[in-house]
Amino acid sequence: MTRLVDLTSDTKTRPGPAMRRAMAGAEVGDEQYGEDPTVEALCRRTAELVGKEAAVFLPSGTMANQIAVRLHCRPGEALVCERSAHIHVAEAGGAAAISGVTTLTLDGRDGVFAAADLRSVLRPPSRHVPRPALVVVEQTSNFGGGTPWPQDDIGEVADTAREAGLAVHIDGARLFNASVATGTPAERFCRHADTVYVDFTKGLGAPFGSVLAGSAQAIAEAWRWKQMLGGAMRQAGIVAAGALYALDNNVARLADDHENARVLAVGLETIPGIAVTPRRFSTNIVLFEVVGRPRDAFLGALRERGVLFGRVGAGGVRALTHLDVGRADIEAALAAVKDVMEG
Ligand SMILES: *Cc1c(COP(=O)(O)O)cnc(C)c1O
Repeated sequence: MTRLVDLTSDTKTRPGPAMRRAMAGAEVGDEQYGEDPTVEALCRRTAELVGKEAAVFLPSGTMANQIAVRLHCRPGEALVCERSAHIHVAEAGGAAAISGVTTLTLDGRDGVFAAADLRSVLRPPSRHVPRPALVVVEQTSNFGGGTPWPQDDIGEVADTAREAGLAVHIDGARLFNASVATGTPAERFCRHADTVYVDFTKGLGAPFGSVLAGSAQAIAEAWRWKQMLGGAMRQAGIVAAGALYALDNNVARLADDHENARVLAVGLETIPGIAVTPRRFSTNIVLFEVVGRPRDAFLGALRERGVLFGRVGAGGVRALTHLDVGRADIEAALAAVKDVMEG
């Protein structure tokens, strides 16, 4: 049987033998009691990497983002984010349901916006308007096509937010992709943020788990919400060991994913009927459209050839490179697309 090339998401990775060995050998304890040494080590290590005082381990990125909203906003207040932001389009309306928070969206470029864009949605305080309390920066922008935010843009957005009394949260699901792609230490992106979450199950390839980092006070409060939402765990060190393994072994190699995505984009561009969304700078995400044939027929034909892509928006296709996709897989995917488009 031909090998399946799954480009649907960078969450599709399965832990390899070395990561599994690290997990199997992990020292564990009761995480709810703060007694799991591996979880504690992961929290300390991540807090240091992003330059924050404290951190808490959580089962998912969605929970991390939703706890951040709860920390920074009160009911009736608003969070501000780009229109394609995960926290707005892919978290089941959690901000409204869990925190009573409304969302003000703005239009960025490839998911990234500037201080001027933020200013344009900030109204003079009034009894009538929802009070903006939080701005969310998604590093990299997922549905914007893996765009990394330049550090200066984050700084300017954060300064503008601060002047207007808003807190800043970084959704760092792919923070390390941005760091590797731009050569900027993760900590520098986070310097201006009150809280930041990083994910271990995206490009880093761990089975699951995220860490939310911030001031000691913010993280103490985050623990309360983690407990309430059912995110407090027991011998979670088994999972945290996979995340620690990923920090040791899977960060620098993100550059390979970025190179594979570039090769994929360049190859797709040469295939008639494929329109790759042009972008100045990308990481491990490629967005494209199929011209002149229905998207689902195209995706179905590729599936028959062992290549899986994801859907995005009404007609777009999304491909993500990751740990379980090598150069030969990219070549195979390109050959399959060519075959389908020529057939
Ligand atoms: C995946 C993702 C999340 C949520 O992570 P889960 O672990 O799937 O809950 C949040 N933000 C962005 C940008 C993501 O890509």
